[in-house]
Amino acid sequence: MAIPILEIEDLSVDRGTYPAVEQVSLTLNAGTNTAIVGPNGAGKSTLIESVLGIVPRRTGEVFILGHPLTRKAKLDQRVRQQVAYLPQNFLFDRRIPIQVEEFVALGWHRLGVQFPWSHQKQCRLAVEEALARVDALSLRHKPISKLSGGETKRILLSYCLVRPRRLLILDEAPAGLDIRSESDFYQLLHQLKTEQGWAILQISHDLDMVRRHCDRIFDSVRGAQSRDLF
Ligand code: ADP
Repeated sequence: MAIPILEIEDLSVDRGTYPAVEQVSLTLNAGTNTAIVGPNGAGKSTLIESVLGIVPRRTGEVFILGHPLTRKAKLDQRVRQQVAYLPQNFLFDRRIPIQVEEFVALGWHRLGVQFPWSHQKQCRLAVEEALARVDALSLRHKPISKLSGGETKRILLSYCLVRPRRLLILDEAPAGLDIRSESDFYQLLHQLKTEQGWAILQISHDLDMVRRHCDRIFDSVRGAQSRDLF
């Protein structure tokens, strides 16, 4: 049997003294799209931040592609490269003088920027393809400080796509996108899932979207089990 992309076993996570996530178990297989829904403050972001190793856990185990996330949130570097994360908000210093294509190229190098990246054909092609996939090739020379909210979202997605991954984690990803971009966005997720076998885990408040695009809904981060939608 294929190794699950993500396995969460009995995970509990505290925010200070507050138990934000309690005894969650969840398995994601390749080629699936799973939604986490729930009210504000329910612990959804805490759950994914713990899976990403940003917030330490109190109890439980997390495995990505069969590799354990250690207590100190260490993960094999090659496994880490298989995970892409699109946060709800992307805060950055707007004075950073970097163009869109240079930013997306950071996702390709990931472990160390090797400028001038433009001399590296493989990287340049990957960046072009990733920008084209989110219909943002025309933005390639724009400084990232000049991007609108919706454009920033597309460029972040492009950053995630510039390398093949196995797991894509999205926190309210389409927020800020216009209707057409949103529809393109879900079409792209569908392709990544069905054609490339990515597992997608997304936090959402849009139940209509969840019903249309996700295979499973996980409606609590407090010990509940996920349920199939269809
Ligand atoms: P959701 O994503 O479902 O809205 P969160 O995971 O953001 O929920 O928050 C879960 C709980 O943890 C909330 O009570 C929130 O106030 C608390 N919390 C979130 N982030 C922090 C933080 N950085 N420090 C302290 N408490 C936090």
